[in-house]
Amino acid sequence: FEQSMGVSGCINWTIALILVEIYIRRREKQLRKGENRYHTENGFAVITSEDEFLDCVISHRSSDAKYDTRIVTLSFVKEKKAYLATPPGQHFSIRAIINGETVTRSYTPIQTISKEGGVHLTKELCKPGFLSFAIKTYPNGKMSKYLNETAPIGSSVKILGPLGSFRLEENEFSTLILISAGSGITPLLSVVTQTLKKRTDKTRFILLAIKCPLEEQLEKLQNTYDSGRFSVQFLKGGRENLDSTISGYLETFAIKPTQQIGCLLCGPVAFMQYVIRLLKKQGHSRHNIHAFGFDDR
Ligand SMILES: Cc1cc2nc3c(=O)[nH]c(=O)nc-3n(C[C@H](O)[C@H](O)[C@H](O)COP(=O)(O)OP(=O)(O)OC[C@H]3O[C@@H](n4cnc5c(N)ncnc54)[C@H](O)[C@@H]3O)c2cc1C
Repeated sequence: FEQSMGVSGCINWTIALILVEIYIRRREKQLRKGENRYHTENGFAVITSEDEFLDCVISHRSSDAKYDTRIVTLSFVKEKKAYLATPPGQHFSIRAIINGETVTRSYTPIQTISKEGGVHLTKELCKPGFLSFAIKTYPNGKMSKYLNETAPIGSSVKILGPLGSFRLEENEFSTLILISAGSGITPLLSVVTQTLKKRTDKTRFILLAIKCPLEEQLEKLQNTYDSGRFSVQFLKGGRENLDSTISGYLETFAIKPTQQIGCLLCGPVAFMQYVIRLLKKQGHSRHNIHAFGFDDR
């Protein structure tokens, strides 16, 4: 090749290849950032951008708070016909300017707006262009107080995502045991709704939800899938008798710890550590237990 082309020909080819490589990399960056941030799925535009904050406004907030948790709905300023494709268990960063300070926190959406529908709150909130979150108010919590209480409806916020590394393969487990505390239900709910929608996935879900702010939505889901694919029990209390409650609940489903049984947990770190110890004591392998890092600190 070198003989037929000559040295200068080789250099020209090398330069050409480098230029092509630079062009491809630039174009990839543009596609990620720019005009191709959307693709179409079932007639909806889906935003796939992972590296840009999108402008939103707070368009609705539930008037009643359950276990200090409210449903806050954001609407996109520009992408009115779009929905954000959110893989199961993934979350968004919400950013707001609060008293002159830029505050950013993570939240998991409680619905995926798709043609097949996710967990519907009301028809109003389930339209493309909206994204809803279940947000627990912390005493002196900067973002949660702002979103749930102090920000006037119509206030601007920005969101980035979807983010997160959680992955669940189709039929990876025959049964998934889910245990949540408070607003920790949100990533578990997204795993359940998206898996149940897939006809080829046969995973069965058994959920124990402690102080759950989304009881109504979960009951609806249980009634929709009455073939035993999804069962839920609500616990009002805290950690009292949690050990025997978890064991008793799992016994009703004749669950024996095997490689086919997975566990997903979400809640405060101390709660998750406690439940991991319980599950390990019952014989579940640590490898099959996934705890979502819900607590930021
Ligand atoms: C992946 C992921 C997903 C999440 N999804 C959700 C969700 O769907 N819903 C939800 O409600 N939450 C979710 N969270 C938690 C959320 O991101 C926030 O951490 C939570 O809302 C608290 O933020 P804040 O700004 O209100 O409170 P902060 O201002 O961060 O304070 C939280 C609490 O800690 C106290 N505090 C503040 N500073 C300190 C300190 N230095 N030391 C000790 N205590 C302190 C405050 O008084 C307050 O009580 C998620 C977190 C992660 C990581």
